[in-house]
Amino acid sequence: MRSRRIAVVGAGMAGARLAAQLHAHAGPTETTLYGAEPQGPYNRTLLADVLAGRHRADALALPTGDARVRTGAEVVAVDIRGRALTLADGSRETYDELVLATGAEPVLPPLGGPVGPSAGVHTLRSLADCARLARDADTAARAVVIGGGVLGIATARALAARGLTVRIVHRGPHLAERHLDRLAGTALRTALDRLGVTVHTGERAPVLEGGERVTGVALADGRRTAADLVVLACGARPRTGLARAAGLAVRHGVMVDDTLACAPHTYAIGDCAEHRGVPQGLATTAWDQADVLAARLSRTGPGARYTGSPALARLTAGPVEYAAFGSCDDAAEEGADVLRIGDATRGAYKKLVLRGDRIVGAILVGDLATAGGLARAFLTGRPVGPDPLSLLVPPSSARLPEESRP
Ligand SMILES: Cc1cc2nc3c(=O)[nH]c(=O)nc-3n(C[C@H](O)[C@H](O)[C@H](O)COP(=O)(O)OP(=O)(O)OC[C@H]3O[C@@H](n4cnc5c(N)ncnc54)[C@H](O)[C@@H]3O)c2cc1C
Repeated sequence: MRSRRIAVVGAGMAGARLAAQLHAHAGPTETTLYGAEPQGPYNRTLLADVLAGRHRADALALPTGDARVRTGAEVVAVDIRGRALTLADGSRETYDELVLATGAEPVLPPLGGPVGPSAGVHTLRSLADCARLARDADTAARAVVIGGGVLGIATARALAARGLTVRIVHRGPHLAERHLDRLAGTALRTALDRLGVTVHTGERAPVLEGGERVTGVALADGRRTAADLVVLACGARPRTGLARAAGLAVRHGVMVDDTLACAPHTYAIGDCAEHRGVPQGLATTAWDQADVLAARLSRTGPGARYTGSPALARLTAGPVEYAAFGSCDDAAEEGADVLRIGDATRGAYKKLVLRGDRIVGAILVGDLATAGGLARAFLTGRPVGPDPLSLLVPPSSARLPEESRP
């Protein structure tokens, strides 16, 4: 039997995981990844760590099994009925199954003023962005990051580690409000302050100032903060131009069902996909979807379905860390038991939301020592037992020696 040729458009985190899993399942498939970037797939979630100097760029490479990886190969059109795709160089290739894994692109809000990296206005989505930003940061002293979600905080942390004075300008009421409650946002702000990162919240309409290069950011109350560079970390939207032009159904993302299909012999996974009305924008979701699709395409799990991924958010590997699971906002607290521990001075905060014996949500800011156990208990729905506090506070390792006890 001839191998089925699987064309994956997008050599990012979803595409790489799919290729590696197809290889692991050893089905009768031949996979080609078409990637627009000059390098093969890499772990995009670690870009801020490359910026901070914690990782080398080449350490981020991801495995792709036995797939053929075509780098610098942008796909400019797909013919769904003819099962063929066209590359930027004009060449045309045919396939049996098509997987769109085109990812997402940064949201660029209209902020007036200078535009683009050559003017000192950056985004951080690719290794190329990271290299440009690092070069600019080498000669800059002051940076403003617009956006105080996980990406904005990670970027601010990285720029502070490079010795810059950093301000975060955030439109929300507190930092990372999609994942954290108000007290956690306050703890994070305290922790960032200790790193020399100042946070402005509730800033709905900052305006960039400068001519050929950015010189500062004007805030709504008339204050002005000087900047040698600005990073826009205002979220990402699914990259859907190719799918739209091919006639596929697109709302926020490429609309897929539980089989991840969007048309006959056509699928979408990762940041470009919209499943049950929601585009996700998380690596964990991209991987879950790639795993399901690999099982289906390799025919090792022809009935596999994707029904959603658990809500898990993490900012790790640095001096300001957090993890959030499930529902933690005020609405989730109604009728639930809530355990909270706060340490305002050190910028630490922990919260556990329980319904009966089960975890509904949890937040850790500052100390992630119990994050693994908490995540396991949350994901498996395991009863928390008689001492739920132990999920927030690790058992002390500093026990007194036997003879010194009273
Ligand atoms: C700095 C940063 C930090 C992050 N941190 C986290 C985190 O801590 N946790 C988490 O869960 N998620 C995080 N994310 C999000 C995570 O990286 C994405 O969810 C994940 O990369 C999605 O994988 P993907 O393959 O769908 O898209 P991507 O990884 O973006 O890959 C898409 C690829 O497709 C290519 N492409 C697009 N169109 C074409 C075309 N027409 N032809 C050829 N190639 C094309 C793009 O160039 C790109 O290489 C972070 C993202 C960033 C940018």
